[in-house]
Amino acid sequence: MKQFAVIGDPIAHSKSPDIHSAFAAQFGIQLTYTKLLADKQRFVTITTDFLTQGVGVNITLPFKEDALRVADELSDDAKRIGAVNTLTKKNGLVKGANTDGVGLVRDIRDNYGVEFTNKKVLVIGAGGASKGIILPIARENPQLIMVVNRTDERAVLLAKQFADYAKISAITFDELKTAFDIVINATSASLSGQKLALNPDIFAKTTLAYDMMYGAKPTPFMQLASQHGAMAVDGLGMLVEQAAESFNIWHGVLPDTKSVISQIRAMLLVNS
Ligand code: NAP
Repeated sequence: MKQFAVIGDPIAHSKSPDIHSAFAAQFGIQLTYTKLLADKQRFVTITTDFLTQGVGVNITLPFKEDALRVADELSDDAKRIGAVNTLTKKNGLVKGANTDGVGLVRDIRDNYGVEFTNKKVLVIGAGGASKGIILPIARENPQLIMVVNRTDERAVLLAKQFADYAKISAITFDELKTAFDIVINATSASLSGQKLALNPDIFAKTTLAYDMMYGAKPTPFMQLASQHGAMAVDGLGMLVEQAAESFNIWHGVLPDTKSVISQIRAMLLVNS
């Protein structure tokens, strides 16, 4: 039986084994998918050891950059982003890819029916999650992508990193005064229930406010956005869609995601 795993710290909460088992059931594929806890010192050894027998590993926080060191080859996106969430062992070589951004775009475009073409997009945050989504968003031809971050310099650096591939610029929270069509919260503020210091005018024309964090209840960001008239959703669909793209890399088939999003949503509600 083919072996897969997700590696991170913490890892107990991960829904990846449930998601990949549900995908596998759609095709009658037999696999095992386990959770591996690592720390910075042992990440490379644990991952390499697993891949002596295993076929694929998903990488989650905080090891997506460390995973670059495990890969023999990188996809173009993983190279430009500087982070990996999917490792695949094939013919003795380990290939690294990043499916996070594809997952976000598919959730927004295909599940919520919101197109990026000619839209003004605001990305809040300049950490690993923001880096992972810029290239796939840029491929959808938005009018512009603005990045805002608590630490301004990181937003400026991120805009520079992707300047050759996207119409992207940095802005400060104080300068945020005009409306955006799509607002994506890619900060970890919602993890600790913290509110972002956002001018509500940015939601005046917003079609979709998207929090990459997910949970049983609306986040403070989602609450603020819906109070100002935006459709506000969380990032559970992105989690399932990025997993679907990893599944496609490993098994050569793209699973149905809608039923799995509903299944994982029900699990979140039961466990809350
Ligand atoms: P990260 O690299 O640690 O970056 C955190 C970002 O959040 C930084 O830009 C940081 O700003 C900002 N931030 C943290 N607390 C803040 C606050 N109170 N106010 C304003 N900004 C704040 O984390 P990450 O990997 O980018 O992850 C960010 C979020 O995305 C997490 O909630 C994660 O769960 C989620 N995520 C979801 C998926 C999915 O599939 N749905 C996938 C990947 C990530 P500074 O630079 O100023 O510190």
